[in-house]
Amino acid sequence: MVAKPKVAICWLGSCGGCDEAVVDLNEAILQVTSAVDVIFWPVALDFKYHHLEALEKGEVALSIINGHIRNSEQEEVAKLLREKSQLVLAFGACACFGGTPGMANFRSKEDIFNWVYRDAPTVVNPKGNYPQPRSQANGKELTLPEFYEQVFALNQVIDVDYYLPGCPPPPDLIANAVNAVLEGKLPPKGSTLAPHKALCDTCKRNETKPDKISIKDIKRIHEVEASPDTCFLAQGILCMGIATRGGCGESCININMPCRGCFGPVEGVEDSGAKFISALAAMLDAENDEEMKQLIDKLDDLAGYTYRFTLPVSLLQRKRA
Ligand code: SF4
Ligand code: SF4
Repeated sequence: MVAKPKVAICWLGSCGGCDEAVVDLNEAILQVTSAVDVIFWPVALDFKYHHLEALEKGEVALSIINGHIRNSEQEEVAKLLREKSQLVLAFGACACFGGTPGMANFRSKEDIFNWVYRDAPTVVNPKGNYPQPRSQANGKELTLPEFYEQVFALNQVIDVDYYLPGCPPPPDLIANAVNAVLEGKLPPKGSTLAPHKALCDTCKRNETKPDKISIKDIKRIHEVEASPDTCFLAQGILCMGIATRGGCGESCININMPCRGCFGPVEGVEDSGAKFISALAAMLDAENDEEMKQLIDKLDDLAGYTYRFTLPVSLLQRKRA
């Protein structure tokens, strides 16, 4: 019997949604699991790290890794999977760009620990204990993964062969990616396995987007009853579709929510947040400096909005002292 290709699926700093997205393949998952031998999938199957360590270098055909890297355990597992795998696929926004947890890069590790273990109203910590990588208890040494100063995307720690963005990636793109690996029909290394165009190109509302958008008032989606057919930007509601890679099937737009940018930058754009801010600057329409100031003041948490999924791989990467 011909051996099936070995596949590992692993979560690092992740909410679990990307693993659920694999299960969301529905019947197609049966075809996938009959074509491959899943040798590691912590969320679903009882494999241990020592099972991975026992494999030969390159014995795994494909590692599908979701989640960002924020601690030493995640870094070790990512490096172990890289060593054992012919191909590594960064799966989902957190692996590709750092994802929403990457917004923690607007704070230092010290700020985060102080809030979580000292200052949050629900904290009871009279001794002021903070987690330590090494501590002693009853004569024994206890260890915890070391928490890093910032969140990293996968390719900031290991070499990545392919990228599949999304929060989470949609089933059709997952199935296409797995089939491309199984059939050996892969694009050049480093490619993103999703369309190269911006979301606006396939959005049904694009025909209502004016050639020159003029925003005189900025509205937040919960403050208005948005038209379900008109381009959000034409309604004065920020939508990241102009700076975001397409391929999600306009999931958010279809439920009358503007795009938040989970597919990351379009091909050739390094920093989708900066790209969006630059485009937005050309759209804001004010008669004078005072009006412009009032408009800008309405941009509540612009950095958080525009870098919601991509701060760790942006030009900023993190807040600097
Ligand atoms: S800006 Fe948003 S709503 Fe407008 S066309 Fe682009 S994706 Fe669609
Ligand atoms: S519309 Fe934007 S935020 Fe929503 S799934 Fe698509 S790319 Fe992600």
